[in-house]
Amino acid sequence: MEFTVSSEAFDLISIGGGSGGLACAQQAARHGARAAVIESGALGGTCVNVGCVPKKVMWNAASIALSLADASDYGFGVTVGGSDWGALKRRRDAYIVRLNGIYERNLAAKGVALVRGSARFVDAHTVEVNGVRMKAAHIVIASGGIPIVPRLPGAERGITSNGFFALEHRPQRVAIAGSGYIACELAAAFQELGSRVELFIRKDHLLGHFDAMLGASLMREMRALGMIVHPHVIPAAVREQSGLNTLAAADGREFSGFDSLLWAIGRSANVARLDLSSAGVTLDANGFIATDEFQNTAVAGVYAIGDVTGRAALTPVAIAAGRRLSDRLFGGKPERHLRYDMIPTVVFTHPPIGTVGLSESEAKMKYGDAVKIYTSSFTPMYHALTARKTQSDMKLVCVGPEEKIIGCHIIGAGADEMLQGFAVAIRMGATKRDFDDTVAIHPTSAEELVTMR
Ligand code: FAD
Ligand code: NDP
Repeated sequence: MEFTVSSEAFDLISIGGGSGGLACAQQAARHGARAAVIESGALGGTCVNVGCVPKKVMWNAASIALSLADASDYGFGVTVGGSDWGALKRRRDAYIVRLNGIYERNLAAKGVALVRGSARFVDAHTVEVNGVRMKAAHIVIASGGIPIVPRLPGAERGITSNGFFALEHRPQRVAIAGSGYIACELAAAFQELGSRVELFIRKDHLLGHFDAMLGASLMREMRALGMIVHPHVIPAAVREQSGLNTLAAADGREFSGFDSLLWAIGRSANVARLDLSSAGVTLDANGFIATDEFQNTAVAGVYAIGDVTGRAALTPVAIAAGRRLSDRLFGGKPERHLRYDMIPTVVFTHPPIGTVGLSESEAKMKYGDAVKIYTSSFTPMYHALTARKTQSDMKLVCVGPEEKIIGCHIIGAGADEMLQGFAVAIRMGATKRDFDDTVAIHPTSAEELVTMR
């Protein structure tokens, strides 16, 4: 059901039809509320269109490339004729269009009104879309984030993750600036699908927000795949040279010959079109919408969820915050809210990373000598027959005499699927003893987590 904008009043309006906004509005409708979603772009938001979903397709493709490279070691006579980036993109795009349709039908099935257009606040209970005003007792800002492009001469020559998903052809040589999730994931996908990648990082480590072991191990694995990682490069300008890009660093060094340059230096809140001041909603020091633990903004009846709040910018977080908010507003659960600690997350590189809880340094800062660390490093059995090798590294961060597990950090094949179950156990308060008392599954990599000494 596509909704024709009218001045009809709703119980809840969600600005943004991405992960958070859709989940919030649908949950409100489940509770019997009259809910509407306003979306200016494609339904599903970042995750479906230019995030998790197309990224995972590329990660799957890269997994196949690596398996093909290993195939002869397992006795297969395989001749690989290269990969067709354009064909992969067309199939990926078609999948996303199918998803867009499913999302739209889901909204209709749940009785949520969909309004296509860009919303801006008129006051705390009124928004305007396509020149028409809509009112609601509760308005949820779920407008997400946008990639940051640095303010540097020539920066517009670079693309962002959005541009990555628009590429029709695989570039030959790619420069990527950044050291977080997106830089690592897209660098891996490019490299494994045949581009030559150089990664430019400001410091000397990747994934600075995680346990230091993970960034160090990933750097080792990326270099083993042939990627060049340049530490201590602060981008200062981008120049065109013979049709290619040259990245100039602040210290005068220059890196040339890139047919593609990608910025992956973080994301900012997507609030420019919202006219927040009309509702009295203010931003925090980093430009995100400040919320309390119940997703309330400083204005009664106006809430914010997901990436626009700058907290744990992950799809399941946006969904969980949105659903809980509707449970609280319409489901008779006044205390329902999302706790932002112990959120498990995966970085889809090869090998992948799975991490939950406190890093070793965070734990030591908080608990000092009460912290005990267990580690394991090994080559997965898969590589017993392959010339290509990877190493898996695991760490458990424990605290107190009972050795309660407060952090679990894994890099290695299978980490992406391994972590979810362990995250449940850790959230329930599992101790090292609980892990030790669990019978191992053999032969797997996961068994290392219950056999650490
Ligand atoms: P969004 O999904 O961004 O939705 C916001 C929506 O609001 C958009 O559709 C936008 O068009 C709309 N909008 C904005 N302003 C207006 C307006 N004024 N009027 C109407 N509509 C408006 N997370 C994971 O958990 N796992 C992953 O593997 C993962 N991979 C990622 C890979 C990439 C490359 C990126 C960029 C992100 C990835 N993420 C991943 C993060 C995830 O995509 C986001 O956390 C999630 O999409 C946030 O949901 P949201 O609802 O807050 O915002
Ligand atoms: P991140 O915040 O993960 O990483 C960006 C990093 O880039 C910073 O931590 C910083 O690292 C570096 N940086 C910042 N500014 C500059 C600059 N001016 N020049 C050079 N480097 C700079 O952001 P991303 O853009 O990678 O991803 C945004 C968010 O999207 C993630 O935080 C995550 O929540 C979500 N996401 C989740 C994924 C998943 O779940 N698998 C995948 C992709 C995104 P340093 O300080 O070390 O230099």
